[in-house]
Amino acid sequence: MQKLVEIASGVSNGSLSASAVVEQHLARIDVRESEIHAFNLVTADQARLDAAKVDADVKSGKKVGALAGVPIAVKDNMCTRGVETTCSSKILQGWKPPYDATVVTKLRAAGAIIIGKTNLDEFAMGSSTENSAFGPTKNPHDISRVPGGSSGGSAAAVAAGFAAASLGSDTGGSIRQPAALCGVVGVKPTYGVVSRYGLVAFASSLDQIGPFTCDVRDAATLLEVISGHDPLDSTSIPQPAPSLVSVLEHGVAGMRIGRVTDLPEGCEADVLERLESAFDALRSAGATIVDIKLPSIQYCLTAYYLIAPAEASSNLARYDGVRYGNRVDAADLNSMYAATREAGFGEEVKRRIMLGTYALSAGYYDAYYGKALKVRRLISDDFARAYQSVDTILTPTSPSVAFEFGSKTDNPLAMYLCDVFTIPTNLAGHPAMSVPFGTGAHSMPVGVQVLAPTLGEQAMFKVAAELERAS
Ligand code: GLN
Repeated sequence: MQKLVEIASGVSNGSLSASAVVEQHLARIDVRESEIHAFNLVTADQARLDAAKVDADVKSGKKVGALAGVPIAVKDNMCTRGVETTCSSKILQGWKPPYDATVVTKLRAAGAIIIGKTNLDEFAMGSSTENSAFGPTKNPHDISRVPGGSSGGSAAAVAAGFAAASLGSDTGGSIRQPAALCGVVGVKPTYGVVSRYGLVAFASSLDQIGPFTCDVRDAATLLEVISGHDPLDSTSIPQPAPSLVSVLEHGVAGMRIGRVTDLPEGCEADVLERLESAFDALRSAGATIVDIKLPSIQYCLTAYYLIAPAEASSNLARYDGVRYGNRVDAADLNSMYAATREAGFGEEVKRRIMLGTYALSAGYYDAYYGKALKVRRLISDDFARAYQSVDTILTPTSPSVAFEFGSKTDNPLAMYLCDVFTIPTNLAGHPAMSVPFGTGAHSMPVGVQVLAPTLGEQAMFKVAAELERAS
């Protein structure tokens, strides 16, 4: 597969044509997309026009951006002006946003070619893409297995070579878990590093956009482009994009890497074995492995499944058949709301809305939502204590390799447990990324997760780059 940095440098120095690069990717989509279903929409015509424009700019000596000619796929919960944005939900099917998300604006300004909108679990709720209203995405390594979720389409698009990179969103693990299951790199930046303007909200205090790529350097390059302060997002951190590519060759000598001794149980042996060899690799490269404890990590999943649904129940109240998306007509206003939401939302989305509404309701608020916020504080305190003695922490990304379709759909709790290692960082607002580190059961990819404190992206990328060298 062609690397993002190679495409961008080839296109900008004229040795590669953006049009040819786009055609190669469209050809791969032609061959395999009907079995993989990574996309809700392939924007082939516009991609061809945009590539021709980049080639013309290069020819006429115009300065082109850092992603010139790079085909990038965008999760279908990010607004693209005039191009259908569905969140893989029937309620938004056919909706064309009147504006671009900030990340999309930044991609275009950098010369990237948007090649399509990728499939996801409806409104990003799920861990397998089986909750998409338009059918699941298949794992390109084994089509009987899930690609993970909710950004399964974005992960599969990169793993299948349909795009050189993609964007996903991560509320509880939706970038890192599918990255691990599809054998690609996936990054959830510090909350506030990448603008959420134009990202359809799931749980606003947890949502963050980030890249999927074939390798760590591509991820660093893409993250540098999409991050930075945005006045259109009130939670955007008012400081410039971090410098990441510059640290990739620094190595890890002298760094302290945390090993969590009280990780929640349930991780498969093949995954733990890869984690151990990742620790060995970092030790050989000069890092020190330090045992740490995160006692509140046991409660994170429970807290997340109160906080995220609570925020979702409020965010999704806007889909009422009046201003957005589709309407089912009925005799009076209340019946119209009910009929629209009954027909428009899938089962998992309804489950979350009910859980969230319950958690926020008078009489239960303190017992559920309020208590969950206290757990959120506890996990932040645990991390703060741990980061006094370590620079980064290493855990599995997901408790298992990619599982078979249908194996968890009857049991929401089993599905929720997929995110037991990724959720704590969302609650704390910290950055974390998944790096492929060999294979486990059924020869499927295994990801190792690197965690860092707020704005610790440089330390995180140093460790990720070392793991990549070792694997
Ligand atoms: N799988 C988790 C959920 O269903 C996380 C989803 C996400 O990060 N968007 O909520």
